[in-house]
Amino acid sequence: MTESELLRRHRAVLPGWLALYYAEPIEIVRARGRQVTDSTGRTYLDFFAGILTNAIGYDIAEISAAIRRQLDTGVLHTSTLYLIRKQVELAEQIAELSGIPDARVFFTNSGTEANETALLLATQYRRSNQILALRNSYHGRAFGTVGITGNRGWSASSLSPVKVSYVHGGYRYRSPFAGYSDADYIAACADDLRDVLQTTTSGDVAALIAEPIQGVGGFATPPDGLFRAFADILDEHGILLISDEVQTGWGRTGEHFWGIDAHGVRPDIMTFAKGIGNGLAIGGVIARRDVMDCLTANSISTFGGNPVATAGAKATLDYLLDHDLQGNAAKLGDRLLAGLRDIGSRHAIVGDVRGKGLMVGVELVRPGGTDPNPPAAAAVLEETKARGLLVGKGGLHNNVIRLAPPMTLTDDEARQALEILGEAISAVAGAGEERS
Ligand code: PMP
Repeated sequence: MTESELLRRHRAVLPGWLALYYAEPIEIVRARGRQVTDSTGRTYLDFFAGILTNAIGYDIAEISAAIRRQLDTGVLHTSTLYLIRKQVELAEQIAELSGIPDARVFFTNSGTEANETALLLATQYRRSNQILALRNSYHGRAFGTVGITGNRGWSASSLSPVKVSYVHGGYRYRSPFAGYSDADYIAACADDLRDVLQTTTSGDVAALIAEPIQGVGGFATPPDGLFRAFADILDEHGILLISDEVQTGWGRTGEHFWGIDAHGVRPDIMTFAKGIGNGLAIGGVIARRDVMDCLTANSISTFGGNPVATAGAKATLDYLLDHDLQGNAAKLGDRLLAGLRDIGSRHAIVGDVRGKGLMVGVELVRPGGTDPNPPAAAAVLEETKARGLLVGKGGLHNNVIRLAPPMTLTDDEARQALEILGEAISAVAGAGEERS
């Protein structure tokens, strides 16, 4: 069956809001390392990795073997009513890595569920329905998490179980404080947080939730230390800090294991998903024991912590630690950032190049200013695809190219990707000049 026939059937039966990339969407049918092959036999270097989820890459023998060993026992699922060895081992390892004292870990099947759990814990612990979130945030697609989404493009409903107030800080490029030095920017955002607490809340707020680098928001990267400054204010009121590490966890930012580590603060709660399963559905919450155990009713995720997902996740975590993929992310991330800044210096459509490690964002603008340029981003996606590279897109205005390859990326692949990106951006910038 052709891809166009599959596309027709997709459109006939799946929701209209389930967006597909590319004018001619592709079906990935085989993959190995950092390369994926579509149903027409074309191979691409994958720089979006299933939305940062195939953290190690494809067809990794150690991970496949761990999953296969579990399948061979015949036990795909038992539920958390029974002991699950890999769940316990993985929780022990994650609790230790979290740096949260006396940490407890609860497994879910997605980032959304992880953040829903964090909201449940924080609001119950503090007996408050008030939450602070960052403008330009994304934390998931369920009722509570849509309620803390600071991005019109993903805000499907205004109905919410929590009362949310938004603060500045995550997205610097279009912030009113954009031109400030790091220290002045942090001070201005901290003042805003104090003002929001004074003017939009009754003081007894449950938590502030933040992505250390905003993912869907276009890899928006605040200056190091911002969340330390926020935490100092939150501490005055007993407000909890939740770090959403769904995209930034497991060393992807290169310099640190958790994105929040760049800020010198230990959150009360951390959430995770995506990369830890290397493609298996798994997420979770890490919290101090008193916070995790504040619930007075039963709570269960039938599939959370299941034997297959936790076996695969344990193998993924072992692999990334054994191979120092955090170090690789730091090294190759620096190379990508430098290469893209160089490309950016040659093209007026590149307004900003930012990120850390293997989370790099390229914000595209109309030449001569900073007006967002979403058509250029769509065109770069097509031009990179035509040259054999898959990249992602995001940002409040859908004008940011997102690069997030598997953390096993090689020097040669980074070089290839930069070459393709240089050509693609040149082609799009050139086409824009011809039009004007
Ligand atoms: N938090 C962040 C930071 C995310 O990027 C995402 C997914 N893009 C989520 C939460 C939600 O995760 P999921 O799609 O697995 O529910």
